Amino acid sequence: MSHIGSAGGQPGSQRATDRASTPSEPALAYAELVAGNRRFVGGAPRHPNQDAGHRAVVADGQHPFAVIVGCSDSRLAAEIIFDRGLGDLFVVRTAGHTAGPEVLGSVEYAVTVLGTPLVVVLGHDLCGAVQAARESVATGTAPSGHLRAVVDAVLPSLRRAEAEGVDDIDGIVDIHIAQTVETLLAQSPVLADEVARGRCAVVGMSYRLAAGAVHPVAAVPAGFATLDTPATV
Ligand SMILES: [Zn+2]
Repeated sequence: MSHIGSAGGQPGSQRATDRASTPSEPALAYAELVAGNRRFVGGAPRHPNQDAGHRAVVADGQHPFAVIVGCSDSRLAAEIIFDRGLGDLFVVRTAGHTAGPEVLGSVEYAVTVLGTPLVVVLGHDLCGAVQAARESVATGTAPSGHLRAVVDAVLPSLRRAEAEGVDDIDGIVDIHIAQTVETLLAQSPVLADEVARGRCAVVGMSYRLAAGAVHPVAAVPAGFATLDTPATV
């Protein structure tokens, strides 16, 4: 007798599998992300939904509870910093979380086809894409190749920061996160409609590389996330 798929496992092991819920409402989805980030920050991750059994379950279909539109920075791995596993997060990453047509289409797929109730824009301190855009403006030179498209997509956020009198890099990053939230909703009537119907929310979160903690900097609908206090300490 053999069990296909058990090769490489731990013979005779009844290792407990850690399951985590997959909420279908925006507020519950947000709470799950915050809870997972707290575990990560505290050095007590559970690594839920990462075992072979769960892999087999989600092979039949996915129901991710959050879309993460994040920066590609190698230190910003969504499943790690939110302590989640397979089938939990629908992750779309570009340098500087710039949101072109393919990103918008990916978000719309998750929200309308998969029924994902939460969209998170995930930026971080010391973001290289934002720094590159700043340098481009400061020197009056545009980067070569397709990197220019990334820089061009960040420029509106720089102009907004300047208008608001913000000139520190992390303050600009937070403005860029909020700007990306607005861009998603302005460029995707499909997403805006899902939010208006109460089936989805969009939250901008800023991640601190050293601390590992996220905190919300923008939310639609307004007041969805508590913006004046960090989500994690
Ligand atoms: Zn970045």
